[in-house]
Amino acid sequence: MSFQLPKIPYEQTALSPTISKETMDFHFGKHHKAYIDNLNKLLEDSPLKSATLEEIVNKSSGGMFNNAAQAWNHTFYWYCISPNSQDYKPSDNLDKELTKSFGGKDKFLEQFSASAMGNFGSGWTWLVKDSSGKLSIVNTSNADTPITKGLIPLLTVDVWEHAYYIDYRNARKGYLDAFFKSLNWKFASERFDANEVFNCTAVMK
Ligand code: MN
Repeated sequence: MSFQLPKIPYEQTALSPTISKETMDFHFGKHHKAYIDNLNKLLEDSPLKSATLEEIVNKSSGGMFNNAAQAWNHTFYWYCISPNSQDYKPSDNLDKELTKSFGGKDKFLEQFSASAMGNFGSGWTWLVKDSSGKLSIVNTSNADTPITKGLIPLLTVDVWEHAYYIDYRNARKGYLDAFFKSLNWKFASERFDANEVFNCTAVMK
């Protein structure tokens, strides 16, 4: 069975004005969908046809990798924000690690923002956990994703211009400030505790 756009846990108008309906129409409905459609087409004659999305990302290269990784990154991204973000905060476990690694949640957000601002060109900025449990912020370019390096993503922000150009034009900082106010700390905390890569396949079949 081919991959589909993920079931995201909110209405497409629910993130407005942080992310407008128009941006959802394009970013989710066109950009994300195109990566999935391209991937499905490439899988038709591939030995990876029955693999999970996570396996495809880890085993493919070239065009298949680009489309599979972008399909994965975007699905993960939609779970990192929530219209109910004001109700969520980092779990005690995650909060302790944020303090240890960055000096607390607010200091983390400053460093996350600076890293996302400095991520040149198209890419993603991530909060990840390594196999020893240590947190760090990493930037990736284009379709690259930290799951191929054995890292567990807790949060991401898409800094491709298509993520913010409709709502914020060239003001990446305005997008980041608004995005960080809508972070889904419940999701990030679950990722921290689960200690395994999020199963995007499960919400895309
Ligand atoms: Mn995008």
